[in-house]
Amino acid sequence: AVIAYMLLAFTWWSVLLYEKNRDAFYAKRELLLIGMVAEGRVSGQAAFQQTPEFQELQSKYRAQKYMIMGEAAVFVASLLVGMYLINRGYHKEIQSARQRRNFLLSITHELKSPIASIQLVLETMKRRTTLKPELKERLMENALSDTDRLHGLVNDLLLSAKLETAYQPFQEHIDLSELVDGIIDKMRHKYPKIKFVYAQDGNIPMVYGDKTGLTSVALNLLENAVKYSTPPIRIETNLHFQTDDIVLEVADNGIGIEDKEKKYIFDKFYRVGNEDTRKTKGTGLGLYIVAEIVRAHKGTITVQDNHPQGTLFRITLPARATTGQQEQKSLKAS
Ligand code: ATP
Ligand code: MG
Repeated sequence: AVIAYMLLAFTWWSVLLYEKNRDAFYAKRELLLIGMVAEGRVSGQAAFQQTPEFQELQSKYRAQKYMIMGEAAVFVASLLVGMYLINRGYHKEIQSARQRRNFLLSITHELKSPIASIQLVLETMKRRTTLKPELKERLMENALSDTDRLHGLVNDLLLSAKLETAYQPFQEHIDLSELVDGIIDKMRHKYPKIKFVYAQDGNIPMVYGDKTGLTSVALNLLENAVKYSTPPIRIETNLHFQTDDIVLEVADNGIGIEDKEKKYIFDKFYRVGNEDTRKTKGTGLGLYIVAEIVRAHKGTITVQDNHPQGTLFRITLPARATTGQQEQKSLKAS
């Protein structure tokens, strides 16, 4: 309402100024004409309009007219741009408040549930000292997987805090094929019912980067592929070297991601849907961490639909940029 009022008021003032300027011009023109006729310098309108005095008056009038119109246009444009920016900022703020709320809800749940279940296991063991060995084994397995979850969560939180301040991507030489092999083995062991198809070409160059970070990249993509799929789950991972880039692809046959969501999933705390309707648990930090680490290694990440269903994430890491550091180091050393 205030902006509409300002627009109307300013339009009114501009029109008024425009008319005043025109009236002043007409009045000055009349006075000048009367003066000149009295002096006998001109006899009619045609001759009057040729005089330098009239020409100067007219050009002053025109300059002022354009100035008024120009200033009105600049003011209206800046008001509209300001309105657009305020609106955009407002929506961003609303969205980030919603994400923070979702994050708080999910983090509380993510922290509470493994702690509660570990506590339950420990209490059961304390109370019932004569547990069957199989049951004891199962309880221990559950407790260990809960500590694993907690560990992952704390790591994600620390890594995301570090990414904002002091992340050091270039630390050591890494054999990516060995790293991905190891992760796929772990995933196969952790999820025996899921089919992991894995292909890599033999000549992946070494990269210079952060091993923990790149491990987290591959793990996050694979864990997402598992989490957002329904049985029978088939996850394809492909590692190859193409032109100057090392390419890692993770494709699943899961629930997929709608096109309108694709641009948000890399935002911090962003999760598709909301906390009340969503079946899976998580913090929305995973893909943010992935994207930031890849960016720090000067790589790219894209997401697209897999066929016939599911999602495909593709990461490229420039082998030259990363091994370039390695060459510089060995040059320095020599
Ligand atoms: P976290 O990884 O921190 O435990 P999360 O998995 O919800 O939580 P992200 O990994 O950042 O968070 O993923 C963001 C959102 O993107 C997810 O909530 C999910 O909706 C969507 N998403 C990510 N990967 C996939 C996938 N492979 N298939 C379908 N949806 C996905
Ligand atoms: Mg995730």
